[in-house]
Parts: sequence; C-alpha cells; structure tokens
Amino acid sequence: MSKHHGKHRRDQPPGETSSSALQRDVSHRKTGKVAGVDPILAPAATGIVTVRPGTRCDLGSIDADAGGGLDKEAAKAVLATERARIAALQERLYAEHARSLLVVFQAIDTGGKDGSIRAVFEGVNPQGCRVWSFKVPSAEESDHDFLWRYHAKAPARGMITVFNRSHYEDVLVVRVKDLVAEPVWRARYAQINDFERMLSASGTTVLKFFLHISKDEQRERLEARIADPDKHWKFDPADLVERKAWNAYQAAFADALTECSTPQAPWHVVPANRKWYRNLLVARTIADTLEAMDPRFPRAQADISGLTVPD
Ligand code: AMP
Ligand code: MG
Repeated sequence: MSKHHGKHRRDQPPGETSSSALQRDVSHRKTGKVAGVDPILAPAATGIVTVRPGTRCDLGSIDADAGGGLDKEAAKAVLATERARIAALQERLYAEHARSLLVVFQAIDTGGKDGSIRAVFEGVNPQGCRVWSFKVPSAEESDHDFLWRYHAKAPARGMITVFNRSHYEDVLVVRVKDLVAEPVWRARYAQINDFERMLSASGTTVLKFFLHISKDEQRERLEARIADPDKHWKFDPADLVERKAWNAYQAAFADALTECSTPQAPWHVVPANRKWYRNLLVARTIADTLEAMDPRFPRAQADISGLTVPD
C-alpha cells in the first residue's frame, strides 16, 4: 500500500485498475449511488433525460418546460446546497490529484450555456477549475485534426474542466453549415466515442449536458437581447440566421446524442426553459457524479502526529 494515496493512483496503469478501484470505493456507500461506475444512473434529480446507449434520442418528446413541481425560490435554496457539495468535493478531487472531471455543455444559441456555468460553478475554487469556450477554429486549429484543440484543453489530474461548446461542434454547426463533406462528419461520431473512451480510461469522468430549450423560448431570449441595452453584447445578428436552421440543428443534436451516448459518457438532456430548474439539475448531477467518484484526501507522507512546529 502506497503511503501517498494520490501518488498511488497516479502510478496505477490507467483503465481497468482505476475503474475497479472506483467500484470498490463506492460499493460500501450508504447512498447506493454508483454514478461514477455507471454514469447512466448519475442524474438522481428527476427531470433530466439520460440517453441510454443504443437507443434513439427523440428531443421532440422531451418537455423543455419541465420544472419538477418546484418554485423558483425553493429551487434556488436547493441550488445553494448543491453548490456547497460541489465545492467540498472539488477540494478533495484537487487534493487527491489523481482523477479529473470534464463537463461538456452544448445547446442551441441562447440555450443557457454561459448562464449555467456562472450559476453552477459560483463558489468553486478557481484554482481547481478551468472553463474553455470554443469558437470558430483559428487557422492553426484548422490545420490539425478536429480533436486537437479539445484534447489540448482536457483536464489535468485534480481539475474540473468545463467545455462551453466542445468537440461536438464538429458534428453540429459543421454539419448544418455543410463545412465538411458528410462522410467526414459521419466518421466523427466513432472518433468522438474513441476519444471519450480514452479520456475515461485515463481517469477523466466525462459528463455531457445538452440544454434543451423550445423554439418559442429562443425567440423570447433573442428578443430580450435586442430590447435590453445591457444584453446587446450577447446579441449576435448571425443568431437570427442560425434560428432559421432550427430544425436542422435539432436533427444534428438528436443524432449526436444518439450516436455518442456511451456507457462511460452518456448524454444528459436538461429541460432548460426555466433557468433556475436547469441550474439545479446541472448542479445536482455534477455533485452526484463527484460524490460517486469519491475523491479522497491523500494521507500524510509520514507519521506526523508527534511533530512540533519550530519557532
Ligand atoms: P458563441 O459561443 O456564441 O460565442 O459563438 C461561437 C461560434 O463559434 C458559434 O457560432 C459556433 O457555432 C462557432 N463554432 C464553435 N466551434 C466551431 C467549429 N468547430 N467549427 C465551426 N464553428 C464553430
Ligand atoms: Mg452566441
């Protein structure tokens, strides 16, 4: 047994060993939650629809308006407790310095990616968390394989990394705008699954949220951005053009969620018309996932119980 838990983990060969260690770690837990072992079970929160691998994702059948029977104030109080859980677990993950969490957000324009990140990660130690927003690829990025820029930003040990847009853009906007030939983007589903499988086998838990809003809700949000001078910076006239491709985007999302829901990294569809409910569902799922990962503070490097601190 290594005297340094974190180091022990770091020295383990990635893959089967860390996954069976995870299983052992959670098997005794009173909560019975095993999200770290089977992410399909992660959303203890009702309202999230987790796409089962091998089944078709039908976005049209998922109610974007769901509110879980909660009111806004009650939901905000619960959100505060979920944030506290995330902050406490993040401290352990950071100290353990062995595994990491990658949280992916995808949504149509105005879907709430920025708002979710702001609300859910408030209170998290910035030193243990990174957020990356992916835009139109630069010339240098375009000169590499499509996964290059995402892999470079994947989390280091101990970190929570958030992707605001992600490698999925390369089967979404790229498909809708016909930026590459169909055989090229079609091949990417399998390439993405391989990439995520490799990340999981290397100790990174991959948690993917699709924020699901209705077309009417998008109109209201775009109108609010036009009407409110403080929101003008968020308004991109190109969003009005993209809105015309609403159906093509929904089809591309449904295919990505269907093709890339895997046992180690399923997609979670979050009803997102009500921002406070969306925030609560996302926060709870992240907290449950971290809890199931069960990060541990490393043991002291030697017996320090008798030490005194010199003047
Ligand atoms: P925003 O997130 O609103 O700042 O906008 C970023 C823009 O970059 C969106 O219109 C995305 O569709 C676009 N974008 C992100 N990734 C890619 C990509 N891989 N290829 C083409 N466009 C992208
Ligand atoms: Mg935008």
